[in-house]
Amino acid sequence: MKLLDSLKKIIEKDTPTANESKKMAVLIRIECIILMAYFVLNSVVFFMFGKYRAIGGNLLMFLLYAVVFALTFKLKKMATVSVFIFVTSFWAVIMLWLYGPGLCFQIIPPFLIIIFFFASYDSFQRKIIFTLCTFVVYLGALFIYGTRPPLLQVSIFDQYYIMNSGMFVIMLCTCVAAHVFSKDSQDQERKLIVYNRRLEEKASTDSLTGLNNRGRAMDYLDEISKIADEIICSICICDIDHFKIVNDSYGHDVGDLVLKTVADVLSDNAGEGGFVARWGGEEFFLAFPNMNGDDAYAVLLNIQNKMKDACVKVRDEDIRVTLTYGLTEYDKSKSINDNIKEADKLLYMGKEQGRNRIVY
Ligand code: GH3
Ligand code: MG
Ligand code: MG
Repeated sequence: MKLLDSLKKIIEKDTPTANESKKMAVLIRIECIILMAYFVLNSVVFFMFGKYRAIGGNLLMFLLYAVVFALTFKLKKMATVSVFIFVTSFWAVIMLWLYGPGLCFQIIPPFLIIIFFFASYDSFQRKIIFTLCTFVVYLGALFIYGTRPPLLQVSIFDQYYIMNSGMFVIMLCTCVAAHVFSKDSQDQERKLIVYNRRLEEKASTDSLTGLNNRGRAMDYLDEISKIADEIICSICICDIDHFKIVNDSYGHDVGDLVLKTVADVLSDNAGEGGFVARWGGEEFFLAFPNMNGDDAYAVLLNIQNKMKDACVKVRDEDIRVTLTYGLTEYDKSKSINDNIKEADKLLYMGKEQGRNRIVY
């Protein structure tokens, strides 16, 4: 465990340039460790099978990746990546030279392209140029070394071992690179989703009462109007009675507390599908989807009752308020505004009739 911890610390050590992300250096270090382990394992396997000549090449590659590993602590990001790409290309060419084009040589260029694409902030054009250059180098190497017999004639077993172990280690390296970079963008995407949701909530919430705001209520009405053919819905505009007196007598802060209390009573008692919004000032909007006027009336009666018990305590006084409600069934033949106007008209009838009532 301790060994792993210290290895992790070394891998995550800072790079010399403070204004560059160290992510790429960390990735190259991990890739180097994987490849170094691979070349050590190869050396052991070849030693066990008595193929001593192959050990030298593997140890050379081990040393080269050890140098790249060390350079990640000294060089800038693109220099580190370039050295890594150079050493890996060198390995590909050596493979081609020794064993011919039949082994895992072909899988190395795509891996290098992935590393370059992630590492470089260059334009897409330059990345395409890099891809083309890689292809040209690949073709050149193939032309020079692939057209003559390979230097070593190896048994079928050796071929299988070299090809599949090479494939495996490059796939592992590609997998690590893809993970490091996809994790990053996925994390960012997740953060963006949460941030957007918060922004949306903020944009649709009334900051004082925590209810939906008028904008959200209009969106809701828009949704209702679109499905008005399929469902019935009742809507209500209500307004606190003589609220100005509360403000004038107890101050604006107490007025705010009363608004919050009223908002709580409305949202606690609007029923399961009920929608509550602060329409503006001391006016609120309620919607009851799938309820006709009679059902919504019963809900409002209950709210009116609950409002009697709700109070804001100021010193020794209990402040209670009443509301007047204008309730109507949403009429699909009318516009949203006309439906609102209808509820508003009923509300003001209620005010004129003496307040604290539901007009339907
Ligand atoms: P009515 O019964 O006719 O509705 O009388 P009212 O006094 O409630 O109506 P009016 O329109 O005369 O006064 C509404 C008051 O509500 C005036 C305004 O200062 C107050 N008000 C509006 N928004 C807020 C708010 O966010 N906080 C506080 N404390 N007061 C508010
Ligand atoms: Mg009022
Ligand atoms: Mg008002």
